Amino acid sequence: MRHFPVFRDLRARRVVVSGAGEAAVAKLRLLLKTEATLAVYGTDPHPQIRRWAGEGRLTLVERPVRHGDALCAALLYGANEEAGEDARAARIGRAAGAMVNIVDDLDNSDFITPAIVDRDPVTVAIGTEGAAPVLARRIKAETEERLAPALGTLARIGQGFREAANALPMGRPRRRFWSRYYDEIGPRALSEGGEEAVRAALDALLAETLAEAGETGRVALIGAGPGDPELLTLKARKALHEADVVIHDRLVSPEILELARREAIVVEVGKIPNGPSWKQADIDALMVEHAANGAHVARLKSGDPVVFGRLDEEMDALDAAGIPFEIVPGITAASAAAASLGVSWTKRGRNAAFRLLTGHDVAGFAEHDWRGLAQPGEGGAVQPAAIYMGVRAARFLAGRLLMHGAAADTPVTAIENVSRLDQRIVATTLDRLPDALTGAGITGPAILFLGLSPREAMAARDDIDLPATGVL
Ligand code: SAH
Repeated sequence: MRHFPVFRDLRARRVVVSGAGEAAVAKLRLLLKTEATLAVYGTDPHPQIRRWAGEGRLTLVERPVRHGDALCAALLYGANEEAGEDARAARIGRAAGAMVNIVDDLDNSDFITPAIVDRDPVTVAIGTEGAAPVLARRIKAETEERLAPALGTLARIGQGFREAANALPMGRPRRRFWSRYYDEIGPRALSEGGEEAVRAALDALLAETLAEAGETGRVALIGAGPGDPELLTLKARKALHEADVVIHDRLVSPEILELARREAIVVEVGKIPNGPSWKQADIDALMVEHAANGAHVARLKSGDPVVFGRLDEEMDALDAAGIPFEIVPGITAASAAAASLGVSWTKRGRNAAFRLLTGHDVAGFAEHDWRGLAQPGEGGAVQPAAIYMGVRAARFLAGRLLMHGAAADTPVTAIENVSRLDQRIVATTLDRLPDALTGAGITGPAILFLGLSPREAMAARDDIDLPATGVL
């Protein structure tokens, strides 16, 4: 982001416009919405500027801008449509300490003027750093449509009611009060009875919300998917947006956390394999404490919370504390991994069952029914399975499976950082698995697919030449 959007206070400040033609008229249309004192310098002024001057809305001086004219100005616009004259005006502005904008000249400007949707006091500014004016216009048109013209009036009345609303506890009750005002009560009252009705409706809503404010909080146990925010469910997105407190695992991606409200308290309760970790009991206590204080807690877990997510322990803790909760399913890593490889978990004639295994459990490397896993299925090959938390256990896993009769050339595919920009695929065979993972330097979270290879799906593509063992 080269330009940082801020809102400049122009009340009782001078703004100087150098130039009095079409370009100046366009900028003045925006500037006249502000409380700035406007001075326009230029010869042969546009009739519209003359009219505004006649109405006393700006001062028109019919000569080029000079040193001294920009004294105490907050902003100076170069709207001469002539580079030399604009450069001269810019020097005058900068010497006087004003921020300078040259119309349609990003490189010589200190700031840019965004496209504006005006519902004063609500103002939406749209900028594309000059890259895509068409896009800015489209976003402006869409925003104009979305924001009712009455919004400005409602916001102004709301502004006057802020102090009264501070009687509500901070956080959810206060937020709920304002959303109900802006979403339903305010617009309805305004259209039915005008501004007076809005004030009465606010009083009634405040009394009602104060009565409800004692209610307890709740927890949503949310599947955040494998990382790509587009793989969040709408329900997860909504619950995250409504949360006062977000408690998340280490694997939940920053892009997803961005979707939380700015005021939300965000706590990472990471468990780093072999590293410093939050204890499950402390995570449970943290959720219970916030919910008991009335907060809406979003407990974000990577993938789907029902897969290797210690969900039951958290539900037990919430039940014991009498805290209501809901589970929001997510896309589990193995599901997204299959999608990016272009393979199915199940396939007619190959396998009618698919197992999800963990390489690790409380005791260390997890034991499984190795014989059952190694046995060929319908298609003559090993029954496919997805192995979570399997990277560090790879040597152990491969050893156990080979010992129980799995073929050395059984395909194994590791997909690291599924759905993220740094996703990598390592295609190998069971006997080479540990070395292939070490060789590729797999350090992020990864799914191991036993008995599934990307080769079949990739064969149809001629842009990828996959070696017997390789990294994509
Ligand atoms: N509930 C999660 C699993 C948590 S266990 C889910 O449904 O996906 C943690 C393991 O999940 C990691 O060791 C890794 O095997 C897998 N995992 C989670 N996110 C992943 C990702 N983005 N890419 C690859 N594997 C991932």
